[in-house]
Amino acid sequence: ASSYVGFDSITRQIEYKLLKRGFQFNVIVVGQTGLGKSTLINTIFASHLIDSKGRLEHDEPVRQTTDIQAVSHVIAENGVRLRLNIVDTPGYGDQINNEGCWDTIIKYIKDQHSAYLRKELTAMRDKHIQDTRIHCCLFFINPTGHSLRSIDMIVMKKLSEVVNVVPIIAKADSLTLEEREVFKNNIRAEMQYNNIRLYPFDTDENDPEELALNETIRNIIPFAVVGSERNVIIDGKPVRGRKNKWGVINVEDETHCEFVHLRNFLTRTHLQDLIETTAQIHYEAFRSKQLLALKD
Ligand code: GDP
Ligand code: MG
Repeated sequence: ASSYVGFDSITRQIEYKLLKRGFQFNVIVVGQTGLGKSTLINTIFASHLIDSKGRLEHDEPVRQTTDIQAVSHVIAENGVRLRLNIVDTPGYGDQINNEGCWDTIIKYIKDQHSAYLRKELTAMRDKHIQDTRIHCCLFFINPTGHSLRSIDMIVMKKLSEVVNVVPIIAKADSLTLEEREVFKNNIRAEMQYNNIRLYPFDTDENDPEELALNETIRNIIPFAVVGSERNVIIDGKPVRGRKNKWGVINVEDETHCEFVHLRNFLTRTHLQDLIETTAQIHYEAFRSKQLLALKD
């Protein structure tokens, strides 16, 4: 909408500044080993990759004993530079005794909030603070077709209190389309039953378009996806896909899986909102709690 007081041009200036600086986007992947976490991340971002370096250099390294690993990439999407950190959490929920297996993940997320708060309290006002806060948690669900494991429910609940959680049905090629729909509905019902409030959140600031977009996303979640690091030939063209005895799955074909929806959600429609929601809801909750504790 146009506006005679010139708000549009102000927004454009702010946007331009943001675009020039580029976005810092930090994603954590959570789920059992072997569910295709690394594969999916590579499928989403590989084609846009400009540059990656091994371990992300933290100002203060997180506890050495954890298995948590961060890798940083620079990607270009629609001409916008995106600095992307992918935090991998191998081995969650693999043990016979899974008691407290989520602790290191939650601690990692809170450590980033705490590091940011420390910098915010000490840094000069105009200085740009390096942001390692986790903007999105991709939560990988085993494609059993039945229901969620109770451990998954517990962990998803805990995570959703500190980070934007986006559930994903991994390896969706192992379910038929009917099974996929049933499984999705079961998962949604279970999450509702357990009062798990998932991203996206509607706010008063959302315009009708954004509200409609959020509703569309809610109707898709959990994204049923297939990942592949290999190309297969379909109609003479190489595409990301998986080939089995019966045929070929084209990862980017919307009739095959919801990979494209997930990628658009992450890199286009909700990128900025995931970042803002992290700052305004999750980080703010952490921050006010810490500052209150300081007062006592
Ligand atoms: P991670 O341990 O969660 O990081 O899992 P990986 O990405 O290492 O994948 C484990 C195995 O599953 C590999 O052999 C992958 O080729 C395979 N895989 C990954 N994604 C898919 C998928 O969408 N469908 C199928 N059928 N296999 C997959
Ligand atoms: Mg892996």
